[in-house]
Amino acid sequence: MSLETVESPWSDFLSFMETNCSKAEFANWIAPIECVGDSVPITLQVPNVFVQEYLLENYKEALGSFFTKDKKGEPLISFLIKEREKKKAIPKPTPKQKKKSEFDQELSFNVSYTFDNFIEGPSNQFIKSAALGVASRPGKSYNPLFIHGGVGLGKTHLLHGIGQYIRSHHKKLRIQCITTEAFINDLVSHLRNKSVDKMKRHYRNLDILLVDDIQFLQNRLNFEEEFCNMFEALINQNNQIVITSDKPPGQLKLSERMIARMEWGLVANMGKPDLETRVAILQHKAEQTGLRLSSQLAFYIAEHIYNNVRQLEGAINRLGAFCRLMHLEPTQEVVDSTLSEMFQAPVHSKISVDRIIHSVASMFDVRESDLRGTSRIKEIAYARQIAMYLAKELLGESLIKIASAFGGKAHSTLLHAWKKIANQLEIDDVLRRQVQMTRHNIEA
Ligand code: ADP
Ligand code: MG
Repeated sequence: MSLETVESPWSDFLSFMETNCSKAEFANWIAPIECVGDSVPITLQVPNVFVQEYLLENYKEALGSFFTKDKKGEPLISFLIKEREKKKAIPKPTPKQKKKSEFDQELSFNVSYTFDNFIEGPSNQFIKSAALGVASRPGKSYNPLFIHGGVGLGKTHLLHGIGQYIRSHHKKLRIQCITTEAFINDLVSHLRNKSVDKMKRHYRNLDILLVDDIQFLQNRLNFEEEFCNMFEALINQNNQIVITSDKPPGQLKLSERMIARMEWGLVANMGKPDLETRVAILQHKAEQTGLRLSSQLAFYIAEHIYNNVRQLEGAINRLGAFCRLMHLEPTQEVVDSTLSEMFQAPVHSKISVDRIIHSVASMFDVRESDLRGTSRIKEIAYARQIAMYLAKELLGESLIKIASAFGGKAHSTLLHAWKKIANQLEIDDVLRRQVQMTRHNIEA
């Protein structure tokens, strides 16, 4: 009955999945699916409804790009649950997964977290090129690469992007992608089973270790030491390590030794996307979900949702679902009625460049007109850079717009100032306190 041998979108999809999910995942979830007949829409025979749900939940986007889509952008697939007698052949998912759970499961990357799907802008361009550098030449460029930044800004996305790029370009390299929590759990269970040596051997034989959310290692003294030893062993053999965190190394409550190790390579900050980047992200997500969003509406949404990318994504999903269900095209009214509760008060209503300049001028004891001017006197130029940094952080507006509010400076000047101060903040406690105080003053 199976037509899997025939060259078809299904076999293309299978080869895609083979390279984009872990062996365990493929064996448990994808291999048991059979393509039945060659009609359109395609019919997939699944062992049970869980496999169907799993496929739709995790790979809808991928399915959409291999098979015909309906008007709403959903992949057109009919599912057929396999006869009961065959069920016995497939209860593999659970036991098999259990057996493999030691290490393999950690490799299941989110297939949509690729470099191609990562939209660039001034706040993440640098970090993306560093990530690409590491993925192209693992162990040979920045090691470790330490990515830090707030929630929902794309750290995990880039980490998986690196992993998936390496997996498709350097097939022989052994990769492990793990959350810090999973690492700790692994260690606990190996301690319990007295098999820590086995675990150590596994980790030390890796070529690439990707660790998500290292902040969870804080206050876990015993684990920290174990992690640090493993870290050193890998780095000493030039094996690549990439770490993500919600704070820069210096602000993590970890041992000096651990912090120093993490600062060995490149520490890069993932900033909040500016207005244009938020618009580009919204348009990209809309396109992926088959939602027709005018750029006017994309700007409107981006002006009101500016804290993180996850919220932008949530907005598109919500708008998309509403439009599909109600058979509507997105208009200003539809956007207002579906998204208004997600909208944040436009920042500029309260905070403005004027206000920032005013606060910075009084904190750093310079004149407001100097901050808008071109004086290169050290103290003034420094205070101006701090004001520019704060404006970019607090306003969520286009760089060009902010730069022009500083007496018509170029947006590259603003970006340069922002980068300089962002880096300085990581190492300079005094500056950090001053900036915090100014910020409170502005936001008060
Ligand atoms: P973090 O790990 O920093 O909390 P994630 O990597 O989980 O954030 O990102 C949150 C969501 O936003 C993910 O679905 C991710 O794909 C998306 N996202 C973040 N940054 C970008 C970007 N620059 N382009 C496209 N999608 C992004
Ligand atoms: Mg994350």
